[in-house]
Amino acid sequence: MIADVADSSTPDARSTRRLRKVTYRLYPTARQEAELQRTLRAHQQLYNAALEERISAWRKKKLSIGYADQCASLTALRRELPEMAAFNCSSQQMTLRRLAQAFASFFRRVKAGDAPGFPRFKSLERFPGFSFKGHGDGWRFTPGKDWKHGSLRLAGIGQMSCRGRARQGGRICASQVLYRAGEWHLSLTLEPERIERSRSADGAIALDWGVQTLLTGVSHDGTPYELANPRWQQTDRARITALQQAVSRKQRGSLRRTAAIRQLAQARARQARKRLDFLHKEAAKIADANALVAMEELSVKNMTASAAGSLEEPGRNVAQKAGLNREILDTAPALFMSLIRYKVMETGGEWAEAPTRRLKPSQTCPGCGEQKKKPLAVRVHACEACGLTEPRDRASARVVLNWALHGAPTAPGAPETSRRTGTDPMRGATHAKFHPILRDSVE
Ligand SMILES: [Zn+2]
Repeated sequence: MIADVADSSTPDARSTRRLRKVTYRLYPTARQEAELQRTLRAHQQLYNAALEERISAWRKKKLSIGYADQCASLTALRRELPEMAAFNCSSQQMTLRRLAQAFASFFRRVKAGDAPGFPRFKSLERFPGFSFKGHGDGWRFTPGKDWKHGSLRLAGIGQMSCRGRARQGGRICASQVLYRAGEWHLSLTLEPERIERSRSADGAIALDWGVQTLLTGVSHDGTPYELANPRWQQTDRARITALQQAVSRKQRGSLRRTAAIRQLAQARARQARKRLDFLHKEAAKIADANALVAMEELSVKNMTASAAGSLEEPGRNVAQKAGLNREILDTAPALFMSLIRYKVMETGGEWAEAPTRRLKPSQTCPGCGEQKKKPLAVRVHACEACGLTEPRDRASARVVLNWALHGAPTAPGAPETSRRTGTDPMRGATHAKFHPILRDSVE
């Protein structure tokens, strides 16, 4: 994907302003569609020509040309070739910039000793789109009411209607026009107005990934929280499986197969959008109600790797684990977690990530701190030491919540048992009032 828009906006002196991307679907007329295709082809050719120029300069003269040189050649080219000059100049520069970035990351990988992929010539099918910067420079987006739908005006192409919605409006910084699976999309980069979102309640909650549910958790006042997997997920999965089968039934290279592949890609994209929307909404609800949100640090790799079992326990949990794996991968926990985190931070709340290995939430009793391993199939936590019995996921969420609020797996006043287990699960941990994570990995 094109990743060069972030630095095209003016950096804010005060802080790390968060840029957001929002995608609208474009509805060009037949004539506009032809113009968009022509523009896409021109950018693809420019990209390949610029790559060719870099390669041959190096081969013939051991000359290394950079972005500035190529911009100068572009200016010269535009003077000589009216068909080049017909397209927006800064948009063409963005394409050159993208090539420059492909080279920069190639050299970075070489330096790091990773497998470097040399920048490649791109076929039209693999060419994702073209970018614009400077709102008003050859393009203008007019959002509809509350940023729902709107219209895009492109110089030389005209006005196109857009469907979609930004969750939050802002200053329009840059855009990309993207072509994928037969559809045109506009990806806008917005700098949101800083609204300090207010919370409607100041609760504290710990959340855990569930097996039957998507998320399960518990609040400071003991209220259980459960978020079910959305029902449409099953239907969507079935639909996608059916479309996959349809593709494999069609003859290779046939038009029917191409059509089926496109249908499959569209269904996948629709499912992804629906899922993202669902996760956004649920994350917002959590952030709205809680001043502190704690979760176990996430390692999908750990959670999904060992379905086949180990030497001692050869695949005894295969069925449960395989199911868990699918659900986990389906709902993209890393994405969900980062959405929750940044919404919590946005409302000025605190985010705490519990060190799973040290704290062992699923093996520790929130009542007394006793540690005991339980296999994944055991769904209930029943403590032999203090008699506490509750659903497994909720018990481990309570351990995380206690850790976040009190710095220990048990609430204050609980019997001291870390002596009994011989380990202090909090040793070396950063103490409570935990490090709200200041980094924000959500773009
Ligand atoms: Zn106990």
